Amino acid sequence: MAMTFGGLALLVLLAVFLIQRFDVVAAERDQALVEHGFARQVDEFNAVVATQVDWDDAIKSLDHKFDADWADFNVGNYLYTFNGFSHAFVLDRDERTIYAAVGGERRDLAAFAPFEVLARRMIPAVRAAEVKRGPIRPRAGKNNIVIPPIQKNAIAQVGGKTYIVTATLVQPDFGKILPKGPRAPVVITAKPIDSALIKAFSGRYLLDNLLLLDPTVQPRKRQQLVLRDIDGASVAALSWVPRQPGTALRKQLQWPLLGGLVLLSLMAGLAVRRGQTIVTELIASETRARHLAYHDQLTQLPNRAMLFDRLRNLLAMRFEGDRKLAVICVDLDRFKDVNDTLGHHAGDELIQSVAMRLRETCGDAQLIARLGGDEFVVLCEFTEPAHLQDLADRILAAVCARTDSQFGWLEVGCSLGVAVIDHGGVEPSEALRWADVAMYRSKEGGRMRVTFFEPEMDDALRARRLLEADLRLALGDGSLHMVYQPQVDRKGQVTAVEALLRWNHPERGAIPPSTFVPLAEETGLILPLGEFVLRRVFAETARWDGLRVGINVSAVQLRSQGFAALVTRLAAQAGVDPMRYEIELTETALLGDDPVTAGNVEALKRLGFSIALDDFGTGYSSLSVLQRFSVNRIKIDRSFVCALDDSGEGEALVDAMVKLARSLNLSVIAEGVETEDQRKRLMACGCREFQGYLTGMPQDAGSIANLTGLEGDLPAETIRKRG
Ligand code: C2E
Ligand code: MG
Ligand code: MG
Repeated sequence: MAMTFGGLALLVLLAVFLIQRFDVVAAERDQALVEHGFARQVDEFNAVVATQVDWDDAIKSLDHKFDADWADFNVGNYLYTFNGFSHAFVLDRDERTIYAAVGGERRDLAAFAPFEVLARRMIPAVRAAEVKRGPIRPRAGKNNIVIPPIQKNAIAQVGGKTYIVTATLVQPDFGKILPKGPRAPVVITAKPIDSALIKAFSGRYLLDNLLLLDPTVQPRKRQQLVLRDIDGASVAALSWVPRQPGTALRKQLQWPLLGGLVLLSLMAGLAVRRGQTIVTELIASETRARHLAYHDQLTQLPNRAMLFDRLRNLLAMRFEGDRKLAVICVDLDRFKDVNDTLGHHAGDELIQSVAMRLRETCGDAQLIARLGGDEFVVLCEFTEPAHLQDLADRILAAVCARTDSQFGWLEVGCSLGVAVIDHGGVEPSEALRWADVAMYRSKEGGRMRVTFFEPEMDDALRARRLLEADLRLALGDGSLHMVYQPQVDRKGQVTAVEALLRWNHPERGAIPPSTFVPLAEETGLILPLGEFVLRRVFAETARWDGLRVGINVSAVQLRSQGFAALVTRLAAQAGVDPMRYEIELTETALLGDDPVTAGNVEALKRLGFSIALDDFGTGYSSLSVLQRFSVNRIKIDRSFVCALDDSGEGEALVDAMVKLARSLNLSVIAEGVETEDQRKRLMACGCREFQGYLTGMPQDAGSIANLTGLEGDLPAETIRKRG
């Protein structure tokens, strides 16, 4: 605001200064113009007189023998009529008055009296110039001898009028007639500075209201040129109204300028106000943006960026005394199930409620942040280990507590990992990773627990990472292959096989699926791995007509969009009949109401694949799952087969499962049958199909082909060799 108005004031000052300067410069110019113009005017009058008295004829008629008529015609009358010289006098070489004319008429010589004193003071200068010029010598053959006129001017006040008085020496022009003596006559002329002269002069130099004034009066707002007499005393003044172009400009422009200035001030005022609003808005939006950049939108808790900032600061502080810093990683267990079964709104509400409970529980923590998804981090300084343990337990209890919501009771578990830092030089990312590793330990250890980070855990994690990288490589390096475990009927006839994946690690040897399948599920590698299994199994079993083949499919595969389409495409490519294949799913894969899972199962069934529920009895043994997905077969888990002993409890359970399957019209198979005793007891319960080491070990495709008398689908290169 100050700058804008300061700028405007400066502009106004500059304009005033410029206007004044215009006027001053114009006045100085006018002064010089009038001075110069008046001098030129006098020169012009001198020239007029000189033309009349500087010629041979004038020498003859004024010097040799004075001719009054000549003087009348050429001087008195001529100069008055054509040039307005009111007075003309001729003095002879001895300076005696010999002629006088006033107003063009010859007069008595006494008319010279008013000018005599002045004339006699001017003549010495003329004479001095005459002496300096020297005698005139005619030049032979030349016409004009060109002698400069000898003249003297003075301004005088005579009888109330101001005159330009001139004394002019009579001189020849061609020099045919020369003055008689060394001195020639002198002509005195007077030209009044009258209104005619003033008018002509002001017209010539465009002066406004030019007047001849008494020099003692000095009217305001007028400029003047003082005319001085022979003694330098002021006689009169040429006075005019100065031009003042600056003032004229100002007068012309002052209203538009004033209007412009007011408008400009208004605009400046508006701009300043608008600027203020913009600045306020900017500050507000910057604050908003900073909040957004550092906070999670759903819970308004600090986000990852803020967590790193704070953690960096806390780690940079000195660890003096017993000061320790705990990084607590809180991860919800099976949060995805809530999202899948109740929808994302329920998931959001649960996350918000967890955030609220964390705020309530960790009131004195340094920071509670949401890392995204279902992961939270609490930073807390402490000195007593017991306090930290207490805080961790309280967090666990608070997060796992049931909450009421618009979707009904929401319940979720959580796993905690705690990294305790008691020394400097730890990177924030490292501290967080430690807490993360501990948290995964909690998950692996059965969830709903707190694990404190130990350096060995890091090694285990590293080993897992290595294994993950190796598994990625294994997909392409041929260390993965399939084996098939026979499934037999009561007579021991092989009716089906289950395809099982094997990994022969080039350095570590055989790695069991129970190790690498969960790893693949967590890392997403299960999708390419699953595709590998499908391709391989379809290729190897394509010609096993009459033999059913079970293929294990993970919940992750089933949840992936387009899985059924992939299976269909691969089956078509291999030219196999879907009716011969049984997809083995676990109960947990079918829990919840994930529409993609349901869509995939339905599509697979429509295409002719049958569905077996694997590890039956270890999950929820839910009737609704059996019905909803119209499963074809259940596979009684090995744990129940192992439990078949004399106590009869195991048999009761198996008996119940078999009855359940019968009532739903499902077939039943028992897994993990290792002894004849188990087989008998199973038979007694009504089970007619068996899979286990007793009836057949998992073996490669070739062995199965031999065993069953089927044609093995040999690798292409072997066929060529035999061919
Ligand atoms: P599962 O589907 O329940 O497979 C049966 C497991 O029991 C196999 O272990 C098999 O070798 C083992 N088994 C069979 N008979 C006996 C027995 O008499 N006694 C004992 N102790 N065990 C027996 P494996 O091959 O280690 O597979 C373990 C699990 O890994 C499988 O359980 C299955 O869930 C998973 N898996 C294996 N292959 C694949 C695959 O290709 N894809 C997927 N998604 N999962 C697979
Ligand atoms: Mg299985
Ligand atoms: Mg099983």
